[in-house]
Amino acid sequence: MSYEEFTQSIEGFEENYAGNISSTQYFGFPTQAILNIEEQLEASASKNIAYFSMEFGLAPSIYNTFLLNKPISKNNQFFTHEVFSNYWLCDYLFKIKINKMLDIPIYGGGLGVLAGDSMKSIADAGLPICGIGVLWNKGYFKQKFWYKHGQIPDELAWDPHTYPGLVPLKNRVVIQTKEGPLHLRVWKYYVYSYHKKYASPLLLLDSNLDENSEKFKRLTDQLYRSDEVWWKIYQRVILGIGGMKALESLGYDINKYHLNEGHAAFALVEKYVTLENKEDMNQCKEQFAYTCHTPVAAGHDRFGLHDVSQLLDDDYTQAAKMFGEEEEGSGQINLTHMCLSTCTHVNAVAQKHGEITRLQFPDFADKVDAITNGVHLFTWLSRSFESLFDQYRETFGDWRGNQGNLSKVQELKGNAKFREDLFTAHQENKRQFLDIVKRWQLKENVLTIGWARRIAGYKRPSLIFHNIERIINIAKTIGPLQIVLAGKAHPNDDIGSAHIEEILDHIDQLNEHRKLIRVMILENYDTYFGKLLTNSVDIWLNNPLPPFEASGTSGMKAILNGVLQMSTLDGWVVEAKDDNIGWIFGYQHSGTEIGTEKDSRLDEDSNALYDTLEDAARLYYATVKEGGIDYKSEWIDKMINCIDRGAFFNTQRMINEYNHLMWGNKQVSV
Ligand SMILES: *Cc1c(COP(=O)(O)O)cnc(C)c1O
Repeated sequence: MSYEEFTQSIEGFEENYAGNISSTQYFGFPTQAILNIEEQLEASASKNIAYFSMEFGLAPSIYNTFLLNKPISKNNQFFTHEVFSNYWLCDYLFKIKINKMLDIPIYGGGLGVLAGDSMKSIADAGLPICGIGVLWNKGYFKQKFWYKHGQIPDELAWDPHTYPGLVPLKNRVVIQTKEGPLHLRVWKYYVYSYHKKYASPLLLLDSNLDENSEKFKRLTDQLYRSDEVWWKIYQRVILGIGGMKALESLGYDINKYHLNEGHAAFALVEKYVTLENKEDMNQCKEQFAYTCHTPVAAGHDRFGLHDVSQLLDDDYTQAAKMFGEEEEGSGQINLTHMCLSTCTHVNAVAQKHGEITRLQFPDFADKVDAITNGVHLFTWLSRSFESLFDQYRETFGDWRGNQGNLSKVQELKGNAKFREDLFTAHQENKRQFLDIVKRWQLKENVLTIGWARRIAGYKRPSLIFHNIERIINIAKTIGPLQIVLAGKAHPNDDIGSAHIEEILDHIDQLNEHRKLIRVMILENYDTYFGKLLTNSVDIWLNNPLPPFEASGTSGMKAILNGVLQMSTLDGWVVEAKDDNIGWIFGYQHSGTEIGTEKDSRLDEDSNALYDTLEDAARLYYATVKEGGIDYKSEWIDKMINCIDRGAFFNTQRMINEYNHLMWGNKQVSV
């Protein structure tokens, strides 16, 4: 693609974007990288991949931030965050203010962050890929805490037209429905690799167009908006069917379609409906790969065929029935089933999750592979650790190009200077966080525990408060504690919202104990806070009920930065259980019964958590003492083990496995 063709494809280029895009610069990044990948995606002999995901968490405020030739518009700025703590006067007087760009708000949690991290590592590996998602005009939602009420969800206003790096194309995609044509605009965003010589486009579909009915205009308002079934179905239709049509309209020649979770299953339906010779579908199945992300029942979409038939033309409904009906004659389609039965390549997201997926779907057990998740190193690694690895480059070598090199950290275990530098780098990260919340007067030499992720029942967000007396007692007898939490509950998830209410109550109960235990929960958890917290606390707490955590990734962000894990045995942690990266506690799942999320084992597992916390606190206060830090401490051995495992739990290794197992290419040499 030539530069002229590129600018001509953008709607309103001269008026709105010419100041930021030139033949050499795209919002401060090299334009040539874009022209190269566009060319490659149009070339027919290449092994191009389309990666579909309902959400993408790209975290541009912390990595690869695009430049803008004017100030960022108010709507695209990070808003202030309120805090609910056991120092309520402070909450009342102050807010957290951070002068930053808002992350492109098209994700809800870990699934989206994984999709974003995957795109980045795919670009880093120089693979030709195009991401497909949805431009959520009102984001996910904005969270507000109200004591005694829990979480109040609000709409988020942001402005795609002035968001750095995002451009609308002239292309339109039309889906014919029983309620008239559904028009979609295609937006483009680019993900650059760290050395900026390679980029990957992300196509985002948007129904907010004048030519649409009022109803259709709002379909791409909010991610996971699910008040009504038609809303849900249309959103999946936009991603799957709209996504396939968008690829077609851009002239991309795609060899593999990767469906990140079942939301994109209608891509299969579109493929079938548009085939001239239906028998070719058998070969087409080979082109489809599917990643299943959850063992939790609510994670699998089921729709009545009748509801689908009200919206989609009959050939679409027929195809949806053919591929998606779990049991013949049930009148229900299941998008997970559609993907499992139709895609040739299927994977779960950790080894344990692979086992569970095979148990849950025995008919497809043979084809379920497991590829353990990872995180994108350059997004989640702190500055101070980056400098540390560079400082010891004789040991780490080209750790950016070959992230497996991080395991060489073991060679430095006996190096007194390294041990001191490592702990000092950690303290620097911790101070950065404490500075942002300085009004709340957290202390550098107090054991600080972090828990932040989506608030969902099986993740047991309030486990650490289950027995307030015990936690107070630990702080009294061993040493003071600081606990920082954050997370959003899906607005329709009543159990999740109840957890937030419960947490606020517990924090309030700890009001009079704030000299010993300082607790705070931050509003509007996002990737910025995700990085801030996983980089800076001393212990990352992860206490899902096994075996319901498919993988989990926030702990992987933490280990890269030497933050110790305190975790139940589930998801990715199962693969690191013998590596001494912290502490493992609580109920362990085994056998062929999956059990139920309802039996949440709070009593037994909170006791196990407190016992473990006692050990951890003792070790911490034997390491961080009045007279100084004991750099010989086992604590620092554990930090080193964490970094060692970061060599594996990253998306560079993960994408290599996808490329090999799912997309049928050779291992990429790095
Ligand atoms: C990493 C991340 C998650 C995922 O956390 P889990 O521990 O895997 O549940 C969710 N939300 C944000 C904002 C993140 O950065």
